[in-house]
Amino acid sequence: MTFCFENCAAAGCRADLCQGLGDSNVNWYERARDVIPGGVNSPIRSFRSVGGTPYFVAKALDARVWDVEGKEYLDLVQSYGAIIGGHAHPVVVEAIYQAAQLGTSYGAPTAREVLLAEAVRDRVPSCEMVRFVNSGTEATMTVIRLARGFTGRSKVIKFSGNYHGHGDVLLAESGSAFAVFGLPDSAGVTAPMVADTIVAPFNTVPEVGDDVACVVVEPVAANMGLVAPQPGFLEGLRAACDKAGALLIFDEVITGFRLARGGAQGHFGVIPDLTCFGKVIGGGLPIGAFGGRRDVMSVLAPLGPVFQAGTLSGNPLATAAGLAALSLLNDAAYSQLYASAARLADGLREAISSVGIPITVPVTGSLIGLHFNATPAIDYVTAKTTDVEAYKRFFHAMLRRGVAMAPGAYEILFPGLAHTDAVVDEIVNRAIDAAREI
Ligand code: PLP
Repeated sequence: MTFCFENCAAAGCRADLCQGLGDSNVNWYERARDVIPGGVNSPIRSFRSVGGTPYFVAKALDARVWDVEGKEYLDLVQSYGAIIGGHAHPVVVEAIYQAAQLGTSYGAPTAREVLLAEAVRDRVPSCEMVRFVNSGTEATMTVIRLARGFTGRSKVIKFSGNYHGHGDVLLAESGSAFAVFGLPDSAGVTAPMVADTIVAPFNTVPEVGDDVACVVVEPVAANMGLVAPQPGFLEGLRAACDKAGALLIFDEVITGFRLARGGAQGHFGVIPDLTCFGKVIGGGLPIGAFGGRRDVMSVLAPLGPVFQAGTLSGNPLATAAGLAALSLLNDAAYSQLYASAARLADGLREAISSVGIPITVPVTGSLIGLHFNATPAIDYVTAKTTDVEAYKRFFHAMLRRGVAMAPGAYEILFPGLAHTDAVVDEIVNRAIDAAREI
């Protein structure tokens, strides 16, 4: 049978668009594993850390995704935070459609790049200048080079359990995927590549020497479950960097435009020199960005000697989608995101703890973690006390009930604007049932 969603109850369903993508007679995972390593294009998607077989998505709408078998899930993955307005939001889809008709890439500057850069600066004033790249990883890789080029120093301080993408320099003790696969870091990253990387415990202000180019941090750690900065931590980093003449870099790939209009820096009032973005800023299309002080950004080519480039950077579809996604995020949207996160967190905490399973459900604004331990985590060591086996059981119990969470115990939940009270309550009802089962 070809599953073409003809019976789909979703408003505006276009069965014709789904044809060929949802053939339930095909074992897509088997086919994928033959031609794509592990069958996936990002390791976490393989389900290795939770066991079982990944569902192959055929389509998504608002808070829901459908797999190729036609099974519907209430989705808390939301592309690991790239989606905030809900899947296939009509404003975003229309923007992409309109842009695509005018060409998909030019290799020349466009007005939309300027508009999106201005939109970033409006929301995050520390970004006096902005450059677009194609992923969060590219953004973090480039800011390290930029910091080194600007300061003429080599050392980089990062925090254990913080993930900054898969660039060599920052791939040490980097949480989420590494934690679940039990890898300290990656083969292929040689000692000299990370010789200048210093890894410090999160939530402790490290000593910053005068050979340090930059301190890079997830201002709210969201790749070891959710770990908020303790009072004084971000302020302490700012002061230590100022004293040493090092640059402070916030990796706001997750927190940017999600935690608040002005990201984590707007939320906490601590202003970095450089900021990295990804996810929300592309409305679900591949994009990343970094921005910061004008004097620092001005050492980038072509103004200065730090080289960085990209064939598809500032892509017309991605910038159109990004502008559309940001346009959804007014004050009312943030209030709604905060309220849904609180409602979901309270519901999940109650559901899981009521059956005697130790659980902490940390919430920072619109971000939620699930830590299967009664003691809250404050750093990577305590984050790793989460009961991974309990997460696995809960994950599968939820999946069987049609709720999709990330297949990894160190990922967070991403409620968005499509997670209405009714959706949240339905997720919580299923969680109550799932918790009883496990
Ligand atoms: N920084 C943080 C905080 C992230 O969570 C991620 C990805 O999850 C990245 C950087 C890398 O972004 P990308 O996957 O777009 O390369």
